Amino acid sequence: MQILLASKVSGPEFDVWVPALQQALPEHSIVTEVTAENCADIEVAIVYQPLKNTLSALPNLRFFHTLSAGINGILEDSSIPTEIPFARLADPAMADTMAETALMLTLMAHRNALGYIQQQHNSVWQALPQTPAADVTVSILGLGNMGIKTAKLIAGIGYPTLGWSRRQKTLDTINCLSGNDGLLEILHQSDIVINLLPLTTETEGLFNKETFEKMKSTATFINLARGGHVVEEDLLSALNEGTLKHAMLDVFNVEPLPADHAFWHHAKVTILPHIAAITDPKTASAVVAQNITAFLRGDPVAHIVDRSREY
Ligand code: NAP
Repeated sequence: MQILLASKVSGPEFDVWVPALQQALPEHSIVTEVTAENCADIEVAIVYQPLKNTLSALPNLRFFHTLSAGINGILEDSSIPTEIPFARLADPAMADTMAETALMLTLMAHRNALGYIQQQHNSVWQALPQTPAADVTVSILGLGNMGIKTAKLIAGIGYPTLGWSRRQKTLDTINCLSGNDGLLEILHQSDIVINLLPLTTETEGLFNKETFEKMKSTATFINLARGGHVVEEDLLSALNEGTLKHAMLDVFNVEPLPADHAFWHHAKVTILPHIAAITDPKTASAVVAQNITAFLRGDPVAHIVDRSREY
């Protein structure tokens, strides 16, 4: 069977996917072009930022799979027939990487790594206050593919760990909360707040003036999910006014972050270039292949997107 790999991206970033997917799906043929000859044969597609109208041109498409965890581009593309089921990428290896990034930033915030780097620049030899992990509450908003592993890794270090999800969860070593009351409790209690929510109508702009005001003025906010979760002007005001201690940001409203953006040189902002969990074509292709094989066999497919809840 021919499986279409559809993307508007070209060059080396895209080229690595064809051999990786072909190796993971040896019984099928990965094609990157739709032609008059093959368009009726394509029943399954794999997409990474597909060009508009590519999928709607496939009369017999039954299923497609994304090569990204975030699916906002797909939901916003009105040319994609809504009745076709699709799964999003939920790669356990990426979740491990995300958990490592979250732990790295948590340790940097807790153990004052940035303070020591600054002191070295100024040749300052001075111990900064050291707080036991048991006295630092960390919360993870979003307990999905990325959030659960992150919460478990952080709790394993000894941080009192809170988690927030839409539906109430029960997880060993994590104090799981949900709903608005749960969010308020998290914002009030946490020394470090880590965002790992999907970007949906409900979560867009969740981190704004009102929520920053509910956080401790000594708290660090870490955004590893999507730029659209944050009202950037409100974050800057919270940092400038001392409502919030520090922000560590991997994702932004506009990426790459524009050269003149106020975040770049802000003393209370740490910037990463959207690298918290880079997709590995090898592990991701194996996950996609497993799901496509399940679909073709009529077995349950993991991580099917529910369009009504937007993730
Ligand atoms: P996921 O598996 O879909 O998990 C989403 C979690 O958020 C679930 O626990 C869900 O609750 C919860 N949630 C959704 N809407 C909510 C709401 N309104 N209120 C409270 N909780 C809500 O997502 P994921 O794969 O872990 O991805 C998490 C984020 O990481 C996404 O934004 C993704 O784009 C981002 N990401 C970033 C990078 C990077 O390099 N920076 C890489 C990959 C992914 P339920 O459990 O109740 O459904």
